[in-house]
This record gives sequence, structure tokens and C-alpha cells, in this order.
Amino acid sequence: MTTAYLWSPALEAAADELPANRGRSSTVHALIRALGLVSDDGGPGTARVVAPDPALGSASELARYHARGYVEYLLEARGESESDTESDDDADGPRKRRRTMGLEHDCPPFPALPAYASLVAAATLTACALLARGEARTAVVWDGGRHHALKGRATPRARILYLDLDLHYGDGVAQAFASPTHFPHPLKGRPRPPQVLTLSVHHAAAGFFPPAAPGLTPADTPHPFSLSLPLAAYASSATYARLWASVERIKAAYRPHYVVLQLGVDGLPRDPVGRYGAWGVSGDGGVPALVGRVMAWGVPTAVLGGGGYDSANAARAWALATATLVGRDDLRPATDVPDHDGWEAYAPGYTLEVELSHIPDENTDAQLAAAYDAFKVLAARIAEIVDLHDRPV
Ligand SMILES: [Zn+2]
Repeated sequence: MTTAYLWSPALEAAADELPANRGRSSTVHALIRALGLVSDDGGPGTARVVAPDPALGSASELARYHARGYVEYLLEARGESESDTESDDDADGPRKRRRTMGLEHDCPPFPALPAYASLVAAATLTACALLARGEARTAVVWDGGRHHALKGRATPRARILYLDLDLHYGDGVAQAFASPTHFPHPLKGRPRPPQVLTLSVHHAAAGFFPPAAPGLTPADTPHPFSLSLPLAAYASSATYARLWASVERIKAAYRPHYVVLQLGVDGLPRDPVGRYGAWGVSGDGGVPALVGRVMAWGVPTAVLGGGGYDSANAARAWALATATLVGRDDLRPATDVPDHDGWEAYAPGYTLEVELSHIPDENTDAQLAAAYDAFKVLAARIAEIVDLHDRPV
């Protein structure tokens, strides 16, 4: 079955204007196109380009989760304009309103914001609809994955594993899907498992965004479906390879019908926002290898972008991830970047390799073993709850 690739000129144009990732969208899509990884018909070795359905980015769709006032404001927001001379203490002024809506600091309003918010949501929901209808086995949304605000939508009775590999904790998604149910340990009664299990692998340290990022989920937590696996600084591919056993245990226990993989790549070395990552694109724990491990589960999967603030490295990692998804094993980190608009950004090596970090990985065997021990107990608890209610979907 096909891999769908969510893209349209309007989505790319709007995503290119996002102040935190200016120009990244066109960089990523141009490289993937130049490598021959996408086509209109999804022929062998390519993903099929599908445009987001604009109806899925309407105000009423967004308001199914987000507050209506916020959605209306977002879809009408203008760039920095009329109010810049306004006094800060004008209680009802536009600037005050912007601040209430969180549209300040590194989330400023920009002219394409209404189109951006609407099209990114439409792209992700279109991807989920393709999976739910069985029209694609995998759906890629490199412009999606904005996990500090994103809300997916659960399909009735299906279990969805949301796995977040961005260097930042996926606070928005964890909060959106946090189960109100308490699951005591040992279990009492027959509580139903929630439709979504969120598992975020991320860097956590004092002062690193977001401020409320949790530490390791304790084995006896009352919330075993909202999981956090924190990393110390400079987690290398070897560390991701070692922690993967914990991810596998949780997946095996939860037995998801769908997977959403948030593949933010701000954990690559020298990311200007991530700063504390040393992930890579080679080896067992590299970005494409982990995508391959998720594909090996054989579960319909939406693959989303997210962080990644060095546009050329994000394009390299996501191009190699796309190659894995469509079975193009001729494309490797050593592959030359083909001649295309934007080729200059890949200096000095002009290959798909992301240069490794020389800073020592601070993740220790003891920390990873502690995480594995906690996740072993958590997986057993999840399996017990899922087994009580399992039925075919
Ligand atoms: Zn991030």
C-alpha cells in the first residue's frame, strides 16, 4: 500500500513564513523532490503527493479541540502591524489580546499565520483520514508535528500510540490526550484504557523548554498512558538505539491500531534551538533506522515533522526518513545532494550526512537501565489494562 506525502504549494508557502523555521519547508520539499522520492501516482520507490483537504482546517474543525476564541483569533490574526505604538497597559488593546493568546516572543503573529494554522491542521487531519480509510499505510506530514499546540483526533474504538522523538517534551499533545482516569497500582476494578498513549523521548534539564517537562515516569504512576522518557545532554544515536527496547515494550503492551510518529529533528547536533542533541542519521539509532523500526511494526502510521531549526539538516534527516518509508535503500547518508535550487545550503560536504557531534554523550548506562526497569513495569501494567478490554476494531 502507498505512502502518502502531504504537500501543496499553499502549505509550503505558508510554512516557509513561520518565523522559527523561515524557508525550511521549501528546503525540505525541494531536496526530497530532487531525490525523486515523491510522485503524483505513488509509483515504486516514491510517496504519492496528496494535497491537504482545506475543509479539515476550518475554524469549526480546529474548535473541536482548541478554544473557539483562540481559533477565531488565530485565523484572523495579522502580522505585527496596527498596534505597535499602543501602550502596554491598554487593557483591551490588540497587543494585550495578542499576549493573552500567546502570540509573542518566539511565536509572533505573521501575515501567513491564518493560512499556516489552517493548512498544517488540514494536512495532519488529511493524513489521519487516509490511514483511517485504508487509502495509505503511511502518511508523511513534514510540515506538521507542532506538538506544543497540536491536537490529533481519535478514531472511535481505535488505540493510537503517539511517539514523540523531538528533543523537546510534547507538552501540548500529552495534555490534550491526558486521561482523567486514575489507574491504581496494583490495579483495582476494570478501568478502560484511553484511546491515545503518549510517549515522549526528550531532553529534560533546568531551563530547557518547556518548563514543565517531566522526568522519568515512575513505575507506580496513576497515569501509565502518559509517558516521559527524559534524556541527559548530547544523546547520540547509540543512546537512541539503547532506549528503543523501552519503546518496544510499551508498543507491545499497548498493541496500537495506529501510530503517530512525531519526528522532530532538533536533537541533531548543532541545532540552534535544540542545542543539547547529538542524534544522527547513521547507525542503529539514527533517524532513518528508527523510522524503519516503527515501519517494522506493520501498523498504519502518520509521520510528522516538528522541531529542526537547521533547515539543511532537517531536510537531510527527513529525506533519509522518506527514503526509508518508500524502500529506497540506495539513498544513504553518503549520497550526494543532487543539483537543485538550494544545493548551496549543503556545503561543505554536499551529502546527506549530518556531521557528528564530538561532545561526549552524557547519558549513562545506569540512567538508561533505570528507564528500562520503570518501563518494564509500566508495560506490564498497560498490558493488564488493555487485555481486560481488547477486541477487534
Ligand atoms: Zn523541539
